[in-house]
Amino acid sequence: MHTIYRRRFSIILSSLYLGVVLFSGCSAPLQGSTESSLTTVSAEYAHVEATAVATRPADIDLRRVFEDLGPQATSWYQHVQTLSNPFFEGRVPESRGHELAAEYIEMYFRDAGLQPAFPLSDGSNNQLVTYRQPFTFVPWRTDDPKECQGANIGGILPGRGANADQWIVIGAHYDHVGRGKLGGVRRSSSNIGKLHPGADDNASGVAGVLVLADALSEHYSLADRSASLRSILFLCFDAEEFGLHGSRYFVQNPTIPLATTSLIINLDMIGRLRDQELMIFGAGTGTGLENILKKHGEPLGLDLTLYSRGTGSSDEANFQRSEIPGLHVFTGMTPEYTSPADQAYTLNPRGAATIMQLVESVTLDISAQSEKVAFIAPSRDGDRNPARQRPKVRLGVRLAQAEAGSTGIPIRTVSEGSSASDAGLQAGDVLLIWNGEELNSMRDLFTQLRKHNPGDVVQITVRRDEELLKLPVTLKAPNEGESRRRTG
Ligand SMILES: [Zn+2]
Repeated sequence: MHTIYRRRFSIILSSLYLGVVLFSGCSAPLQGSTESSLTTVSAEYAHVEATAVATRPADIDLRRVFEDLGPQATSWYQHVQTLSNPFFEGRVPESRGHELAAEYIEMYFRDAGLQPAFPLSDGSNNQLVTYRQPFTFVPWRTDDPKECQGANIGGILPGRGANADQWIVIGAHYDHVGRGKLGGVRRSSSNIGKLHPGADDNASGVAGVLVLADALSEHYSLADRSASLRSILFLCFDAEEFGLHGSRYFVQNPTIPLATTSLIINLDMIGRLRDQELMIFGAGTGTGLENILKKHGEPLGLDLTLYSRGTGSSDEANFQRSEIPGLHVFTGMTPEYTSPADQAYTLNPRGAATIMQLVESVTLDISAQSEKVAFIAPSRDGDRNPARQRPKVRLGVRLAQAEAGSTGIPIRTVSEGSSASDAGLQAGDVLLIWNGEELNSMRDLFTQLRKHNPGDVVQITVRRDEELLKLPVTLKAPNEGESRRRTG
């Protein structure tokens, strides 16, 4: 009954995402088609990087298109369509739509056979009887700071054998910014009051958690009786958009033993896989993680970029601060980020299915390991053997002291006329990545500067407020064009 219902529902939804299949680079089923290109989609769709070569309708084998997508992509897309529907009001805390999103997650956790992860909040006993962990928080960057109610939603898939008391967390935040009035949203006044559906951020991650809960439940039920498997906590965080409140509350009030938790895999924005390029932050926070990710990523055809530490901008950061290895799986920034244009039709269900396969394989691998994944504390050392010569180029910034344990280097000032100011870098930006390599110290920055000659163009990623921006920077010689001399 349930299965039949789902199948019918998915066929209806399938018709909705045909557009995505055709225009988002999922062109595999369309091979052999004629050469009439539909890449001249309107400018509004240009960001989807249309690569599919389309065709007369008769050349499209619709049945094959949908069968090739497979059941996980279909379920995932169904969840994303639903949670980003206006009915869910952009999932801003204390709205009706947010409460419905919480109930939706609980319903699917129950369907997947997960056990409740929390005791009653009245403190009457410690029995885990509810999927909800309520808490209060004060949102950041609001014009009207007041205490708000939130709730994490958690369900447990019990492990067995020697690993039953060892844990893995698979998480995603389910809150978003509603109509853009609360919290740290992009302050584009033209968007305030408009619905922010939050399809990629982060219906995509929640949908991933729901599909993985189903898939891993099934794996565990079919696994050999003598298998040794870690317990898994599926955890949907609240109030991430307003200061990572749900994950902070959870690590301060855990209902699983954090000391035996190997890892959190946090899915925050997994909907826009392009050219198979997937970023994973925090790969250096646990022993063996890089190898496990590469081992399972390569057969799936994923082009992984692994960053050793986190960006510090999503929920895994609170776990890392509690010395738990934390990964953040991320398909990248988009122009639609935190705006009314973050709609389900811009997402890539086939790509999401590949990412979920990666998370499933990595989880099963770690679940069966006899050793806990050990936490690797961040090091501030950077390169131990820096070349001694002065760089031939200068960025033109003065740096501020980084907060202990955070990623990146904050910029205190930018010199006028420098490489940095020409590229649009601003005071307050946090330097994160230089041509694919992390920047965490002054030494890292000098190591990069020494590689270049004047005129070279490098790609620098900075964090500005809640956004990540990738900027091309043309490097100049030390005094070229600068009005003042500055470090760096
Ligand atoms: Zn997010």
